[in-house]
Amino acid sequence: MIEIILLGTGGGRIVVFQGIRSSGGMIIKFKNKILHVDPGPGALKGLLKNKIYPNKLDAVWITHKDLDHTGELNIIIEGMTEGGFKKKGILFTPEEVIRDGILLDYLKDYLSEIKIIKPLNEYKFEDLKINTSPLHNHRGTECFGFVIKDASFGYLVDTKPDEKILNFYKNLDTLLVNCVLLEPKENVYHISLKDIPFVYEITKPKRLIISHFGMRLLKYGYKNIQNFLKEKNIPFVLAYDNMKIKP
Ligand SMILES: [Zn+2]
Repeated sequence: MIEIILLGTGGGRIVVFQGIRSSGGMIIKFKNKILHVDPGPGALKGLLKNKIYPNKLDAVWITHKDLDHTGELNIIIEGMTEGGFKKKGILFTPEEVIRDGILLDYLKDYLSEIKIIKPLNEYKFEDLKINTSPLHNHRGTECFGFVIKDASFGYLVDTKPDEKILNFYKNLDTLLVNCVLLEPKENVYHISLKDIPFVYEITKPKRLIISHFGMRLLKYGYKNIQNFLKEKNIPFVLAYDNMKIKP
């Protein structure tokens, strides 16, 4: 029903800004429509690599304002609308992104609609229903993930793990988890590998995809990550740039 391409699977300061992995976000294809979620650094290059020209995009969705999720927002909007020659596309975004001036003013007129999204609401992209999660615990930013019920797919974006938030993502076929850290860190509002058993225990997806790798997690290595997750009997997949997912 939907098809996903993970353009970027890197997270955290070092991985993003040394370009060790892309942070270009993900593409959701639905019927013949294309939604780009979180176009961070590497978004344009990732699209082109997958032979998707930005003018083929129909909408952009932002989960929160951080640069690894919005760094190429303006580039993608400009590309989607062919430099304003084609007024089109919907931008779904938390209000904070607009308030903070992350979207350049002149681009607002290029879009056919800016839809301010809020936690625990339902939005429609064509006839695809997207349900937003409760507010995540991510440094007080307006940050929330989503679930596409009809595809049984959830995107658990950046947050400190918290039972109330995780309850929203229960019992899906595919749960994509932004897991940046190796271990929990005080004052760093991210999920760590060591939190994944707790995340799994509550959400119980058929398949848990780990993405948004930070440097220490990458250095820890795939073998160690795999051993840790296998031991806990978690049905996991480790994401890589340009990976395709069929939920
Ligand atoms: Zn992030």
